Amino acid sequence: MSIKVIAFDADDTLWINEPYFRETENEFCRLMESYLPQHTAARELLQTEIKNLSLYGYGIKGFMLSMIETALSISDNTIDISAIEKIIGFGKDLLARPIEVLEGVEEVLGNLKENYRLVVATKGDLLDQERKLKNSGIDHYFHHVEVMSDKQEADYRKLLKHLDIKPEQFLMIGNSLKSDILPVLGIGGRAIHIPFHTTWEHEHVDVHIDNPNFKQVTTILEVLPLLYAPTF
Ligand SMILES: [Mg+2]
Repeated sequence: MSIKVIAFDADDTLWINEPYFRETENEFCRLMESYLPQHTAARELLQTEIKNLSLYGYGIKGFMLSMIETALSISDNTIDISAIEKIIGFGKDLLARPIEVLEGVEEVLGNLKENYRLVVATKGDLLDQERKLKNSGIDHYFHHVEVMSDKQEADYRKLLKHLDIKPEQFLMIGNSLKSDILPVLGIGGRAIHIPFHTTWEHEHVDVHIDNPNFKQVTTILEVLPLLYAPTF
């Protein structure tokens, strides 16, 4: 059965995201330096973020709250209120960053748009992801945008039901094995992995995937010859 819908992950697949979070994390750790060495503060922050994921979901606002919580905890609630103000500023700066679409994305979308229904399937904060898509200038390539609270098998099943297609008619393209690839293969869909140089520690998995529905490429431009090859 041939592919009908191609879904793209957004962050670090269509545009740059994770390096900005790492820069903000570094600023946060420098701010906390009088309490903890930078790498220890980073570890504390990661733990707080993971603990809060089920409450706040993915996105910048949750990240801001986790930075504030970490600052309070590692300073034993003694941190100056001006530091909290700085942390809120870090988050607002992150929200205001311009969107940098990755190389080759427009060319690939423009080409695929003629033959497939293209959708964005992203985790994160609804308002923030909608803003990013609007500012990216590539929103017109997509039929549908799905901001998912998580990307597990059940979430993809729901998406396919909504799109009214079978798993084998669905191809997901993304940078995270954990979120974009493994759950899609798990429900019988197809997936192309495009690794990005920076991956959030929580998204990192070490696996070898041996599945005929799976391909890995180095850049998004390689997706075109793959898709038009008769074997995929
Ligand atoms: Mg991503």
